[in-house]
Amino acid sequence: MLIPTLFQPSSPRNEINFRAPTVDDALQFSGVSTEQEEQTTTKYLDAMQVGDVQSSAKWTAQDRRTALWWIYTHSQSEGAYQTLSYQCAHCNELHHYDFDMADLADQVELLTVPPYVEVEIPVRGVPYLWNLKPLDGVGMEHLEMMYSNLPAEDDPDYKKELANLKVVEITLQAHLADQPDDFQKAAEMRYELIRSMDVNSEFVALAANVKKMNKTLHHGLPIKIHKGQCQLYVKPHECPTLAKEDKTVSTRLFFQFRGVDYLPGNVAQLLGDPD
Ligand SMILES: [Zn+2]
Repeated sequence: MLIPTLFQPSSPRNEINFRAPTVDDALQFSGVSTEQEEQTTTKYLDAMQVGDVQSSAKWTAQDRRTALWWIYTHSQSEGAYQTLSYQCAHCNELHHYDFDMADLADQVELLTVPPYVEVEIPVRGVPYLWNLKPLDGVGMEHLEMMYSNLPAEDDPDYKKELANLKVVEITLQAHLADQPDDFQKAAEMRYELIRSMDVNSEFVALAANVKKMNKTLHHGLPIKIHKGQCQLYVKPHECPTLAKEDKTVSTRLFFQFRGVDYLPGNVAQLLGDPD
């Protein structure tokens, strides 16, 4: 099967070429745990490239999910159907929405501006020029590891650790021109700097600008990242009950887009055999 060239959503001038997964890939990527989906996504997207291999860890989270979806939908010969069931808020009935993942193609956005935003926000009154960028693969791998190490929700430290993770999320999207090349060192330097910010004026301004940047630089599939995980928004589904009364109301549904669900892993399922 031939996979068409993908234009990287955050930098559409960059072309990425993939091959279709083989049985060997299916064997290699079977049984991947959900706690390692970002790490595995990096390995998979690197392994599936043909020609010059780019480091998919440097692509944005949206680029990476779009690439997974791209390979997945282009390598399903009979369509990539999925069903979402939901309680309709308009008529109160349970609806089942069947759709082909390939139909999301016209929802993919390509950025027409550089994939970053510059903003000046002071730290303890000293001006700093921040380069705000969407989360990339390295950042997502880091967050995945931290979220999987969170204490249980009833643990007295849970809320504190969760709040810390929010600060880390901001840190991983707010860069500085003169930061070390090493990811870990650079992140630690910015984290310490951000921790020293005035919370109500400086930090709140930085967090608000990161939020705004993510809206402005929206690209790829319609995805939102929540607690280090991606939620994919599908096309609005029209309520079939009210349609019979000539009323048009619809619901925009989303589901958790887990990278591992789009790997070519489950050989037993492909053969129609029980696991
Ligand atoms: Zn309904």
